[in-house]
Amino acid sequence: MVQTHDLKIVLDPTNRIGPADCAFISHAHRDHTGAFIDARKPKYSTRETIALFEAISNKKVRNAVPCAYDKPVRLHQTELRIINSGHVFGSGALLLKQDGVTFLYTGDFNFVDTLTQKAMQPHECDILVIETTFGRPNFLFPPRNEVYDTIVDWAAKTIMEGDLPFILVYPVGKAQEITKLFNLYTSIPVVTHPSITRTNTAINSMGEDLVFYDMAKEGEDLMRSKSCVCLFPASLGPRNLSTVYPNAKTATVTGWALTYGRRSADVSFVLSGHADYTQLMCFIDECSPKKVFTVHGYADSFAAKLRKKGIDAQPLC
Ligand SMILES: [Zn+2]
Repeated sequence: MVQTHDLKIVLDPTNRIGPADCAFISHAHRDHTGAFIDARKPKYSTRETIALFEAISNKKVRNAVPCAYDKPVRLHQTELRIINSGHVFGSGALLLKQDGVTFLYTGDFNFVDTLTQKAMQPHECDILVIETTFGRPNFLFPPRNEVYDTIVDWAAKTIMEGDLPFILVYPVGKAQEITKLFNLYTSIPVVTHPSITRTNTAINSMGEDLVFYDMAKEGEDLMRSKSCVCLFPASLGPRNLSTVYPNAKTATVTGWALTYGRRSADVSFVLSGHADYTQLMCFIDECSPKKVFTVHGYADSFAAKLRKKGIDAQPLC
């Protein structure tokens, strides 16, 4: 929770807002949207995140305050502004200003451009709360274009060999990036699991132009003819898919592929919606904060690395 002279705002609470005046919800991933169920107090988020949450949860959010990127909102003496965080469709970071002090909370963020998101821009600030999901020096992601090439090559080769490629993704974020990848650079149709159909459809209704076919509708024939790439939620697991589809070849797409290798999928690609170690360090250099708080992942060890560089840093949890 952040407290200014006249405002208590809780950031991405996993549950109800509690004693704070309001909440900020950075993006539509489930581990960040707990406060949307709290109907009593205001919840500040981008209009895209609110709409996406409503579409995928089938719940109406009450007392939400939809904000546009880069448009300041005044709450008593505090200025609140949401800026793009580059993580997933609609994701935002929070800038608060009061009495000449600037506070920045990144939420989950990415510091490189992807096919669907622009990288987050650094902002000079006094206090920075930064996510450190991949905050260890061994987390160095390969160039994104090389990973895109490898994914497309693998899918094309799998189809040519008479098998059916399944890419296991998060329905919000990676699903749109992979859909866009095949739309832009191949003529391979993308067939989607209903959970991804729902998410992609909601995002298209807000101005995107993703092309995909639901597996229970037009996608059924494409799957039968093994002439498509299938996007299924990562939660289903590669083993379950191989049981249902004997010709399935499975791929996972995640930054964690750097640590666990292939696991039970046939192949894993290193592609993340988060900043890697070098990007985290560069981002902090460019924000030049007086104080850094780290959160998520390697918050302790990353804060220790910052202190060694002479930066005042401590983990939040
Ligand atoms: Zn996230």
